[in-house]
Amino acid sequence: MKKVFLIIFSLLLVSCGKTVMEPQTQYVLGTVCTVNLFEDGSEELYQDIFEALNAIDNKFSVNKEYSEISKVNQNAGSVNAVNVSQEVFEVMTVAKKIARATENSFNPALGTLIKLWGIGTDSARIPSDDEIEEALKHCDPDSIILSEVDGSFKIQILDAKTQIDLGAIVKGYAADCIAELLEKRNVKKAIIDLGGNIYVFGNKSENPDDMWRVGIRNPIDPDAQPVEIVSLKSGSVVTSGNYERFFEKDGKRYHHILDSRTGRPAETDLASVSVISDKSIDCDALATAFFVAGKSGVFEDILDLREIKTVFVDLSGKTVVK
Ligand code: AMP
Ligand code: MG
Repeated sequence: MKKVFLIIFSLLLVSCGKTVMEPQTQYVLGTVCTVNLFEDGSEELYQDIFEALNAIDNKFSVNKEYSEISKVNQNAGSVNAVNVSQEVFEVMTVAKKIARATENSFNPALGTLIKLWGIGTDSARIPSDDEIEEALKHCDPDSIILSEVDGSFKIQILDAKTQIDLGAIVKGYAADCIAELLEKRNVKKAIIDLGGNIYVFGNKSENPDDMWRVGIRNPIDPDAQPVEIVSLKSGSVVTSGNYERFFEKDGKRYHHILDSRTGRPAETDLASVSVISDKSIDCDALATAFFVAGKSGVFEDILDLREIKTVFVDLSGKTVVK
């Protein structure tokens, strides 16, 4: 009986012309990005979204020599500032602000150190102490100078060996941009997943009590059940963890989130940190910062940000929701 009902129902859907497009996936921003627009999905809208994501990648990527960030990096130490777009300028402004507020636990000037370790690339290796010590001399966000002159936006790196890397914030920024685009196109609901950087957009259903439920992956065993389910009306959930990108040498894990005090993968007492807020850019940068700072990080008190929620998972798998 149930089967018959289902068949009739699906026939009705087709006869009303309501075939729903599948979610779309592309490799952008160095990760797998999937967008689900549910019944508002169309070829054209999905194309616009992935074009917008690729445009962001082309401006921010340190792996593309023509990107705006690469141009700034190539001119490090030059007396001339480099012209950038307003969006690169604005993301850099937020990045510097969060660096200050988190005592550089989130640090956008770690490019030199990140390249040295090469974690997530074919050339990943453990650098010598001398190399780390040398790179650490060139990781000061204060060396990055932002200026706005007659309506043009400029960035200058004073120190020739300092390099910008916005890998810990750009996916959050991109998720906010896509949410803004969906708002303009009157999309009712969507799930934006940029390599685990999640934005749930719009009301999940007509019922106002029906919340989105986002699972927080178990960082100790990523294939196990989620350690926590976050319910939210709409907004972003971003996780930084030691399981995301790493290499192993002599039984030790070297993960991709570096501590600018030591120049090494953060020796934190946490396995993952998730940050929940309506601004994905804040979630992204803060997840990285809280992960580096560990359980005792107390930046929430000094940050002038909208209300945020956090889920900390420690190395034994214990979960603390705040
Ligand atoms: P996330 O996955 O958002 O925590 O970002 C990690 C990526 O950001 C790394 O792959 C590096 O490119 C960069 N990164 C690593 N450590 C830091 C840090 N302490 N602050 C800012 N960016 C970082
Ligand atoms: Mg981040």
